[in-house]
Formats: sequence, structure tokens, C-alpha cells
Amino acid sequence: MAKRKGPNRKILRVEFRQNRQVRRRTDEWTQRYHASDGEIDDAQRNESIRAKGELSRKRTIIVDEHNLPIVDESAWLSGVVTKVHGHFCCVHVSGGTTWECTVRRVLRTRSIAGRSPVTVGDRAWFSDHARLHGGRPIGVIERIAERTTRLSRRDRRQREHILVANADRLLAVVSVAQPRLRPHLVDRYLVAAEKGGLEPLLCFNKIDLLAPDTRTEDDDERQGGLEVTEVIEEFRQLGYRCLCTSVVTGAGIHELGELLRDHITVLSGQSGVGKSSLINAVDPGLHLTTQTVSTENEKGRHTTTLAELLPLAGGGYVVDTPGIRAFDLWGVARGELEACFREFVPLVPRCGFSNCAHRDEDGCAILAAVEAGVISARRYFSYLKMLEEV
Ligand code: GDP
Ligand code: ZN
Repeated sequence: MAKRKGPNRKILRVEFRQNRQVRRRTDEWTQRYHASDGEIDDAQRNESIRAKGELSRKRTIIVDEHNLPIVDESAWLSGVVTKVHGHFCCVHVSGGTTWECTVRRVLRTRSIAGRSPVTVGDRAWFSDHARLHGGRPIGVIERIAERTTRLSRRDRRQREHILVANADRLLAVVSVAQPRLRPHLVDRYLVAAEKGGLEPLLCFNKIDLLAPDTRTEDDDERQGGLEVTEVIEEFRQLGYRCLCTSVVTGAGIHELGELLRDHITVLSGQSGVGKSSLINAVDPGLHLTTQTVSTENEKGRHTTTLAELLPLAGGGYVVDTPGIRAFDLWGVARGELEACFREFVPLVPRCGFSNCAHRDEDGCAILAAVEAGVISARRYFSYLKMLEEV
């Protein structure tokens, strides 16, 4: 039994799983557990059972105010969940080892999310079961930390599926040429980042291909034909962190590595802009496949593609998963869109109508600012384009 200490501990009685109920307890609980068929289950130090009739039999665990097992720092290891596959998870411990872990049943049954008690990006505490498995790094996840952010999608029955937890940055990669820069796409990444609560980083790659008169391209003529350097400068002026990189000359690669360190960064960007090349340049040990293979993959991509975190040698993780790259406006509602354009935010309260959509309303402060050149017309057109979709 774990010692009880601290203010928020309480005792919780939980049901046994069905197929345990029929078994009789013989001598030492832990002994039987060790000798069991290799299935790691709920019996452990901080649990006890009461010798009552089969029907009233429950297990006692010590939990905190969230009804989750108390973290036992001395006995548990901690890491970040990089992959989830059925009931198995890979947990990466800083320093290098990846453990294969199952999830303790009490976590599965007591989790609010129900379907995904543990997800990629979760910070997990796990117990070391290596000695039961010939020294191989195998463990049991005992508890996960509260999530700071979650990128999720909803299925047809409106159930939430968390794709990544705790991601804190969005690296939007675009190329200045081959393919040509599409500023509207950058605006979309920025909206998605604002909505998801991620800090956006804009990476303008293939800067080695930038010629003095390189222009943007877009289906919408209001976004095309602009000077690339001016567009980049505009994003800088808005206060977004912009990196100009090249895997050919090495420009900006060190800086990129520094920005990825100790963060969980979601990678976004169209195929062919150089995402894999950039990550390989930051961490040559990853050997991500570039060009042909990744284009192939994206052809048949599914929104259900499971996310995977890639641990960077310098610390931190990147999530490079087609299913996440392909995220769209992440369910931004109409009224939320204006808040995702940061230069609009201080002006919105000055609009004549409280529900102003900033399209053609009288007394619209945003329109006035566009006319006065305070808000860029390009950004405003991007807003209108997105407004049509949400
Ligand atoms: P991804 O689909 O976004 O992962 O793009 P890749 O990393 O596969 O790169 C697509 C193509 O662009 C490859 O042929 C790369 O060699 C090339 N590429 C990537 N980065 C750069 C760069 O900085 N400069 C130039 N000139 N080419 C690049
Ligand atoms: Zn308005």
C-alpha cells in the first residue's frame, strides 16, 4: 500500500473487471500477478482487496481530487506518449528510451474521454515492468497529466477524437517558390493555430530560390502576383514569428532547431514545400522520406490517420501526420473567425453592430481600417474567403 499523505488524497472503491471476479484469490496477490499469463493488469502495490463475498468485492485505490491514482514519483517513470496502437502505447523518456506500455485498466474505465484515455502527446507516468519481460523496456501507464491543449476531430456521432494532446506550436511550412507561395494558405494556418491555441511559427522555405522579383500565386487574383518579400514582411509586421529557411544553403536551420526544442510542434504545409527535408536537416537521425514517397502517401490519405510524435535529438517532438496536416479550419464558427485575425481584434468593438460580420455593414470599423490602409486588403480578402466557408 502506498503511504497516504498530502491534502487531496482519498480512497476510491472501483469495480473489478468481469473476468477477475470469478477467480479466487490464492496466497500472495502480487505473486499470482507475476505468474499470470503475461497480461499486465490492475494488481499492484497501491491496491488492496477485501476478503468479502464475490459480489461485494471491490478494489481500493488511492486517488486525488480528480479520482486519478496519486503520482508515485519514487516508483514511476515519466515520458511522453509518441504512438498509440490499440491498447499499446510507446512512451518516450527524455534521454532516449522508448517504452512499450499498456494502460492500467482503472485509467481506461475512469477516464472521461472513455474511448481515448491515453493519446499521442500525453505526459504519462508509468511503472517499470522490465524485470517481468527479460529486461525489455515494458511498462504500465498509471496516470497521465492534465492536457494543456488538444487537437481533435469529431466523428459522425459528434464524439471527440483527440488527435494530439499538449501540442503547443504550429509550424506552418510554405515555400517561396516551387511551389509558389500562396498567402491565403498562410492565413488559414494562422487561423487554425489561433483556434487550436497553438503558437504559430511561419517557415518560408526554399529561400535559396528567391529571386528579386519572385511573386505569389493563388486561385484568387487578390492573393496572387504579390511580391513575396513584401508578403513575408507583412506577416512580420503582424507580430508573427517568421523564419526564412533553406535546406540547400542551411539558412535558418539552426534557428528552427532552437524553436522546436522542448516543444510539441505540429507540422503543417502542402506536399512538396520541404517539411520532411527541414526536419531531417534539424535532426539528421530521423531519416524522413522526402518528395516521392510523401506525395504518394498523401494521395490516399485518410482523416483517420493516427498521429505520431517524432522525438527530436535536441529535445522536443514534431507531429508530422498527413491526417493532421490536412486539418481544415478546425471547426471555427462564424463569430470566432474575426478573433483569429489578430489585427481585427482591437477594432471589432468599434463596429456599429455588435454582430457585424465586417462585410458591408454600415459603421464597420474593419472596413474603415481597410480603406484607410491600416488593415491590409490582402488579409481582409482572406477573411472574406474564409467567412464564406465557415
Ligand atoms: P514535403 O512533402 O513537404 O515533406 O517536402 P520534401 O521534404 O519531400 O521536399 C520536396 C522537394 O523540395 C524535395 O525535392 C526537396 O529536395 C526540395 N526542397 C526541400 N527544401 C528545399 C530548399 O530549402 N530549397 C530547395 N531548393 N529545395 C528544397
Ligand atoms: Zn465590422
